[in-house]
Amino acid sequence: MPRALQPSYARAVQDVVIVGAGAAGCVLAARLSEDPGTAVLLLEAGSKSRKLEIRIPAAFSKLFRSEIDWGYSTVPQAELDAREIVFPLGRVLGGTTALNAMMVLRGNRADYDDWAALGCDGWSWADVEPAFARSGAGPFPLAELPDRNPLTEAFVQAAEAEGIAFNPDLNSGDNEGVGFVPVSQRRGRRFGVARGYLQPARRRGNLTVLTDALATSVLLEDGRAVGVEYRRADGSTAQALARREVVLCAGAIGTPHLLQLSGIGARVPLEQAGVTPVHELPGVGWGLVDHLASGLLVLTQGVETLASAESLRNVLRWALRGRGPLTSNVGEAVAFVRTDPRLSEPDLELLFAPVLFQEEGLKQPTEHGITVGVIALRPRSVGDVVLRSSDPLVPPAIDPRYLTDPGGEDLATLLTGLRLARRVVAQRPLAEHILRELLPGDEAQSDDELLGHVRALSQTLYHPAGTCRMGTGEQAVVDPLLRVRGLQALRVVDASVMPSLPSGHTNWPTVMIAERAAEFMRG
Ligand SMILES: Cc1cc2nc3c(=O)[nH]c(=O)nc-3n(C[C@H](O)[C@H](O)[C@H](O)COP(=O)(O)OP(=O)(O)OC[C@H]3O[C@@H](n4cnc5c(N)ncnc54)[C@H](O)[C@@H]3O)c2cc1C
Repeated sequence: MPRALQPSYARAVQDVVIVGAGAAGCVLAARLSEDPGTAVLLLEAGSKSRKLEIRIPAAFSKLFRSEIDWGYSTVPQAELDAREIVFPLGRVLGGTTALNAMMVLRGNRADYDDWAALGCDGWSWADVEPAFARSGAGPFPLAELPDRNPLTEAFVQAAEAEGIAFNPDLNSGDNEGVGFVPVSQRRGRRFGVARGYLQPARRRGNLTVLTDALATSVLLEDGRAVGVEYRRADGSTAQALARREVVLCAGAIGTPHLLQLSGIGARVPLEQAGVTPVHELPGVGWGLVDHLASGLLVLTQGVETLASAESLRNVLRWALRGRGPLTSNVGEAVAFVRTDPRLSEPDLELLFAPVLFQEEGLKQPTEHGITVGVIALRPRSVGDVVLRSSDPLVPPAIDPRYLTDPGGEDLATLLTGLRLARRVVAQRPLAEHILRELLPGDEAQSDDELLGHVRALSQTLYHPAGTCRMGTGEQAVVDPLLRVRGLQALRVVDASVMPSLPSGHTNWPTVMIAERAAEFMRG
């Protein structure tokens, strides 16, 4: 049943209520509250954590399964040996940007021109570039790592020796080539949207930030969103009303889940979960896309890797000077390549980390080594996010359906990528530091052997998107102004609106989406 309004809470009326203080929510709250005449409430399920690992770049994977992670896993993935893939997502001020790898990458200009071609007017490269530039020039600064690992330099040179051209600016719109990754850091510490956008905005009297507030339902009246019901940490519920708009920024998993809990989505799964459909929108939760990462793990010699980053000396270097290996974002370099010269843009990423990234990041490395991640940039496999229960505390079923595309192209790209990664590792100067390939191991050479490796060990690269797609077709959930179709005063602004994955990483594109949304809403 739709929730009844509680008049006693009518005092908590704002102009705009935003759900979720992650990459998008922090940006949008900051931009909208620049207008002193707009009262903004930002609701966040997590808390304002002071965990040191949030600030220390190299420590991000220690936050997996901590109290600032939603702690989700996918449902068993048929093509990955029925494994339930660890699926970290931030539940804290800053959202997933509090535990991400800080890589700041836009993708390729064609990604956005493709969005426009799909009917998303206002989202071509020419349209989005100013929004990228606005954030990068100010609240979301791009930095260089202060102390790159020598093996990262060796990887870049080895990739060049393999014929991959050096790209000095991976964010120009043409991302092809190998290069060093810009990061969202300042003085060797994480500097994401929570610090760059939200922190300065919190001084404003017209912005209220409520943490430990889990939104459980969008309040609808006659087809119009009028507010949000939320649950506090003590289990009590409250309502926040919005005079102008409710905006969902709860991320590619949280937003479709909240819409479904509110009776907005495909009829059958709602009814199966015991939720009365209020507004049928078949695309809610459908369309989950993600970057799946396979790769090589290689033992090295002669150079210290991040396996020894936590020595007392390094802790002091980080704490006193913002230097040393603890400033590493782990993913220090990337190569974007075309697996077929007939392609017009890169379809494969090699991601270099000067450490063994094992067991989905849950295992701390004990030996020196490197990881060369292999990622199909334009995945064709599509999954979904579906609520399991009308109880908002029950996690939704997350099913990316990795490697299920009928043509098998996602898998083919990964196999090509594994072989390319091996050729790069065999090039000097990186080759001089190689002890041996740990996984899949030299004995794995045939397609079947490499396939076994992909099935047994691939993991998410943490880029879920597309679950409330922007567009014009039947499955579109929002229009190009990010308004939920068929309802009033309700928008979605986060990674879930992406009509396809950018062929890079998703943080900066999500920041850009929120910058665009602020333009639309102020306009
Ligand atoms: C380990 C890891 C590493 C990554 N590394 C990179 C990287 O290096 N570069 C890159 O570009 N991208 C990276 N990403 C991805 C990037 O961080 C995300 O794409 C981006 O944060 C998505 O932004 P969002 O606003 O859509 O969602 P989020 O940032 O996840 O924000 C959603 C917010 O909504 C809150 N929320 C959810 N449901 C509710 C509810 N019902 N009520 C109230 N609040 C709610 C959540 O707690 C969260 O704070 C990484 C992700 C992970 C997990």
